[in-house]
Amino acid sequence: MPGGVPGGVPGGAPGGVRAAARINLAAIERNSARLARASPLLCAVVKANAYGHGAVECSRAALAGGASWLAVAAAAEAQELRDAGVAARILLMGALTRAELELALAADADVVAWSDEFLDWLDGLGGGRVHVKLDSGMGRLGTRDVALADALAARIAATEALELVGAMTHLATAEEPDRSFMEAQIERFASWVGPLRDRHPGLIAHAENSAALLGAGQARFDMARCGGAVYGLDPYGGDPGDWGLEPALELRSWVAALKHCEVGDSAGYGRRFVAAEPTELAVVPIGYGDGLRRLLSNNAEVLIGGRRRALVGTVSMDNVTVDLGLGSGVTVGEPVILLGVDGRERIGAEEIAARQGTINYEITCAVSPRVPRDYHRDGAHP
Ligand SMILES: *Cc1c(COP(=O)(O)O)cnc(C)c1O
Repeated sequence: MPGGVPGGVPGGAPGGVRAAARINLAAIERNSARLARASPLLCAVVKANAYGHGAVECSRAALAGGASWLAVAAAAEAQELRDAGVAARILLMGALTRAELELALAADADVVAWSDEFLDWLDGLGGGRVHVKLDSGMGRLGTRDVALADALAARIAATEALELVGAMTHLATAEEPDRSFMEAQIERFASWVGPLRDRHPGLIAHAENSAALLGAGQARFDMARCGGAVYGLDPYGGDPGDWGLEPALELRSWVAALKHCEVGDSAGYGRRFVAAEPTELAVVPIGYGDGLRRLLSNNAEVLIGGRRRALVGTVSMDNVTVDLGLGSGVTVGEPVILLGVDGRERIGAEEIAARQGTINYEITCAVSPRVPRDYHRDGAHP
């Protein structure tokens, strides 16, 4: 423990640790249920350790809420879920090396194809279940060539060891106010997949992500692949509550020390905070080593005792300092909420993202492995 306090300080970070992420699995379940009502099939995207929330626990919560598929980006992520006993269908969306493809097949994952060479590998490794990907405008993975996409689907269907399961695309601008490019992508995908589905009945078409599904209200294809919304992150960067979503991650630490400052006293590297008047600082043992970006130096607020307080000075690897002013009544051991709710105040990942010029997804993904994840279930299931 910091300060050598055995077992932590009452009211401090849970489990007596310096910093912890508390994840509300009931919120993930409810968010999944809300999304599952909008789509015939819901595929919960749990890549990157479930956007930092913990892949195994969040997969179980999403499945309990109504997701029937999971998606990851890397073969090792599929393997992690299988090792934990997760039995649901897993779509492995990422580009794979041949070695990773072997691992993917060992994990019984569905894989995504956009080239004949990949199908050669797959065939050579004994086959598997495949989704063909059209690049309808993202300009990343997938083939832009509709004729090739058709030929790949036909080859898969005609090959004993291969099973044609799905046809997919990914949208580049679903979270932007101008819908025109997204609609053009959907149109392009729909005109490919419509006839394809006629030729291959039972084929699962999927294109929508969180923003596209929330924005349209109802899925236009067979399955939606949602990540951010499952965790209560608003893909539009606004208030997740406006979409009926609940943020699932709380990031907290504790007041490890209090420090009185006279005029001219400074705190932290580079003396980027110098007291202009007498004040008191709280030293909070969380920093960029935990995923709290250094960009937040002199540029964030935290919650202590239900009140917003300014983070001052430089965010260092292990600590930050918070200006309390004089006579705050804050004591050593009080919890500090970096991300989450305290009384009537809430700091969302959207708020922190705006301060850093990035998106909320990057905020939760950044919570580092040094921060233990602590799971709980708050609020009744509907
Ligand atoms: C990450 C990802 C998604 C999920 O996007 P969200 O905005 O988090 O819902 C869907 N499809 C693909 C291909 C992805 O890479």
